[in-house]
Amino acid sequence: PVRVRFCPSPTGNPHVGLVRTALFNWAFARHHQGTLVFRIEDTDAARDSEESYDQLLDSMRWLGFDWDEGPEVGGPHAPYRQSQRMDIYQDVAQKLLDAGHAYRCYCSQEELDTRREAARAAGKPSGYDGHCRELTDAQVEEYTSQGREPIVRFRMPDEAITFTDLVRGEITYLPENVPDYGIVRANGAPLYTLVNPVDDALMEITHVLRGEDLLSSTPRQIALYKALIELGVAKEIPAFGHLPYVMGEGNKKLSKRDPQSSLNLYRERGFLPEGLLNYLSLLGWSLSADQDIFTIEEMVAAFDVSDVQPNPARFDLKKCEAINGDHIRLLEVKDFTERCRPWLKAPVAPWAPEDFDEAKWQAIAPHAQTRLKVLSEITDNVDFLFLPEPVFDEASWTKAMKEGSDALLTTAREKLDAADWTSPEALKEAVLAAGEAHGLKLGKAQAPVRVAVTGRTVGLPLFESLEVLGKEKALARIDAALA
Ligand code: GLU
Repeated sequence: PVRVRFCPSPTGNPHVGLVRTALFNWAFARHHQGTLVFRIEDTDAARDSEESYDQLLDSMRWLGFDWDEGPEVGGPHAPYRQSQRMDIYQDVAQKLLDAGHAYRCYCSQEELDTRREAARAAGKPSGYDGHCRELTDAQVEEYTSQGREPIVRFRMPDEAITFTDLVRGEITYLPENVPDYGIVRANGAPLYTLVNPVDDALMEITHVLRGEDLLSSTPRQIALYKALIELGVAKEIPAFGHLPYVMGEGNKKLSKRDPQSSLNLYRERGFLPEGLLNYLSLLGWSLSADQDIFTIEEMVAAFDVSDVQPNPARFDLKKCEAINGDHIRLLEVKDFTERCRPWLKAPVAPWAPEDFDEAKWQAIAPHAQTRLKVLSEITDNVDFLFLPEPVFDEASWTKAMKEGSDALLTTAREKLDAADWTSPEALKEAVLAAGEAHGLKLGKAQAPVRVAVTGRTVGLPLFESLEVLGKEKALARIDAALA
């Protein structure tokens, strides 16, 4: 059975790269009716925080992911927070030391740096040189008496490591490129290099799907796995698949510090989780050549990691917004109406709470649903309904109110006054007729009406907007613009 894991470190806001990794693991698990393990890699006390942990869980729930084992749901391998599993790592580290798969390394940072520089200058591999691999008892005593505190280093076998990456195919690492590496700090704290494969082993993970940035740690982990199998801690080496880099602006790797990469930003702007996930799934994968928009169920039904492309994927915010807009269109009107709520009230909405009018909102919502790319755009699009006066947007005003627009507005007011306000079509006829009287096409004729009534040059379909606002208010606003 398939067992995959999503194992972020709770450091800072979740970013879109992390979400893509979670999505591919989740979809893979669901496609194969496997198990998704959610593990929290919080062994770095200096960088991890409880706040980030809460945010991580909240984000996962918001995105609609569920997990079969992990925080809040428990499972046979609990606890799922590495900070609560320290005894396990200590025990495994000791076993590795006892069996000779690891050794204590007393080299100081300065010594390491000096030797690395020398190796580099000589054109030799500059990784750890194996200095402490075979220390005699006397040497150990000497170092100890100097007060040196050792780290624990894993002893890499002297052989090439080959594995078949699920995305990239066969990859071979030569021993000179994978030196011995630290697994426990001098203060006893176990490192990612140890705890991640140990937990993958204990939690019986079958497939490791993660970002390409971790590719170079795979040969180390495979070697460690072999040692763990020998010690009876692990059963089988999992399969590895490395997901392509996500590139941002200027074809640079999208970094955690990029504002574009913060998941919170997408939530605040009113992306739908399904729209965002649809877009993120396209970063390295596709459903088919001619279908960009699909549901998460369609993705799950089709997803396999062997279809992931190894070449870097470009993050395109415009496309992400367009796809989100399409998902907004796919919502039931009622659902859309409800999902906009956070942007219709304080602290986002500029109108007084008592000026919000539910009937007007219900009437305008279907017309808004055809226009938005993200839900946060709703506030500006409907504020003309709930503010006592339209906003004053100078640019819009200058653009729409030209010479002759007073005359046009005067005629439009007359025609609108005589029109049937229960029919947007009749309101359109009225403005059309006013335009004709002044030699203007509909587009030119409606611009000053729109600005007078809504305050802006762009917005929802005008005649539906007028109908929902109501005759009295609309005419009063035209009067105010003429005054
Ligand atoms: N905690 C690691 C990270 O967030 C997990 C890496 C992995 O998937 O192995 O980078």
